[in-house]
Amino acid sequence: MRLIFLGPPGAGKGTQAARISERHGIPQLSTGDMLRAAAAAGSPVGLEAKKLIDAGALVPDEVVVGIVAERIEEPDAAKGFILDGFPRTVAQAEALDRMLASKGLSLDAVIEFVVDEGALLDRIATRAREMQERGQEVRKDDNPEVFKTRLEAFRKQTAPLSAYYAEKGQLEKIDGMKPIDEVTRDLVALLEKKAG
Ligand code: AMP
Repeated sequence: MRLIFLGPPGAGKGTQAARISERHGIPQLSTGDMLRAAAAAGSPVGLEAKKLIDAGALVPDEVVVGIVAERIEEPDAAKGFILDGFPRTVAQAEALDRMLASKGLSLDAVIEFVVDEGALLDRIATRAREMQERGQEVRKDDNPEVFKTRLEAFRKQTAPLSAYYAEKGQLEKIDGMKPIDEVTRDLVALLEKKAG
């Protein structure tokens, strides 16, 4: 199964992708995690990306597309994958379409997490607090100031993807405001329906 999880920062994509990944035995491919790993490793691309991530801006399409192209070639992605945080621009979506078409593959679904924007800042604050309590380093971009920029990037650059995938008949929506377990239940039901 090849899935895309779409939605603003704090919508719950990562949390749900981890659960569905485990249930279906397919990897969760988070471009945010991959870019943070590249930054932590100190590679030139990673360090360049870090500046943009910390500022809440998107990393250039060609960088992210290159990372995803390599990652989906890995053996664990052969059975499928969940893209979490990619694509984030129409150009990335087009590149992904070309990538998949060249392999004779297609997407099974693009799932949009529909959330009330007013709740997102609270969720991000909760994530920052929980990471701190677990002794993990809090993400620099999980603060109210940078969050505004991330939300703006989402509205301008990522939100148009809903129409892009709706036109292709691939878009499914899920209510991301429900409690975490209920969202998982809805997702599982949706994927079962898709699998027929
Ligand atoms: P995330 O972990 O998905 O919230 O992503 C954190 C940050 O990584 C974003 O704010 C961007 O700076 C960068 N990033 C992650 N995925 C992408 C992408 N598909 N395109 C561009 N930038 C990305």
